[in-house]
Amino acid sequence: MRPSKEQILDALKHVEDPDFKKDLVTLNMIRDIVTDENRVAFSVYLTTPACPMKDMLENACRTAIAHFISPELQVDIKMTADVLSGKRKSEVMPNVKNIIAVGSGKGGVGKSTISAGLAATLSQSGAKVGLMDADIYGPSIPILFGVENTPIEMDMVEGKELMRPVMANGIKLFSIGFLSKPNEAVVWRGPMVSSALKQFMNGVNWGELDYLIIDLPPGTGDVQLTLVQNLPLTGAVIVSTPQKMAIADARRACAMFKIQGVDVPIMGIVENMSYFSPPDQPEKQYRIFGEGGVDQLANEFNMPVIGRLPIQTTLMEDADSGHILNKGNIRIFADIAGRLVQQIAIESTK
Ligand code: ADP
Repeated sequence: MRPSKEQILDALKHVEDPDFKKDLVTLNMIRDIVTDENRVAFSVYLTTPACPMKDMLENACRTAIAHFISPELQVDIKMTADVLSGKRKSEVMPNVKNIIAVGSGKGGVGKSTISAGLAATLSQSGAKVGLMDADIYGPSIPILFGVENTPIEMDMVEGKELMRPVMANGIKLFSIGFLSKPNEAVVWRGPMVSSALKQFMNGVNWGELDYLIIDLPPGTGDVQLTLVQNLPLTGAVIVSTPQKMAIADARRACAMFKIQGVDVPIMGIVENMSYFSPPDQPEKQYRIFGEGGVDQLANEFNMPVIGRLPIQTTLMEDADSGHILNKGNIRIFADIAGRLVQQIAIESTK
């Protein structure tokens, strides 16, 4: 038998995307249908290549074709993605589909490590990713990727000279660390920081990106506020440890994103350093920094906890030695990235 395109579409109307709560045909995710004698081929365009439901949706499509048309058909599915743009498009960075700021109230809670991990995982899934290190007072992204001291080269783009991001495993990186000597930026004043950050947006050749992850400076001062007010952010991610003091600061960071006129959707909170399991007793979990605070904060701000990372000495060693992109680390961050892109999808339908 040779099925018609209409039959294929009718069958696939029974497959629903759980995030958008609509079927794949209505969502225009089914494209490039080709039918043949006893065979059908089509593409499923997800809203992100990092979609955690990729395998589930592919299986559901196969089941629908088998059930509603025939189990005898050969079904070839190409799972691909057409990354959805955030709602806040702007002239500042028109070619960047989604800008996600990673913030924390307190320093040293793992904000940079998690920004790097998210960028790396999204990039591995096939998305075009940039990572902007806006942590002007403690730029650690160049260290995490082992690219400190890389000289910045210039590109000419439509008659404008732009700084070329440093590439690390397919991710476009930019950091004040590439421009200043260690500790130099520490003495910068507010206006200098603010103009440096404008340069990061307008003076860097970011090109086309699906996701730009921004590692914000810790805290909720003027610099952070200027940043979140001026960037067309799709959303924010908050990082905190379970420690009481960190939670109190994280609460202020959440409140900053919710200030009238800023109003950036918070996609979720990551609890870092949740517990420690001794390598020789992996079944034991010691909650060194306490517990419960992150969940309480998540409730207060009506946001999900999108990940919990234990204290891992290997992660710290890899971070210090510029090997954050190790396979094991990518696996750790994959779940968090999956939940983040899911939240982005849910937010886009609101
Ligand atoms: P921040 O950006 O919030 O200042 P960093 O990402 O620089 O924090 O992390 C601070 C330190 O903690 C770094 O040395 C980093 O390697 C380490 N670190 C972060 N997360 C973990 C973790 N889950 N386990 C062990 N060490 C971690």
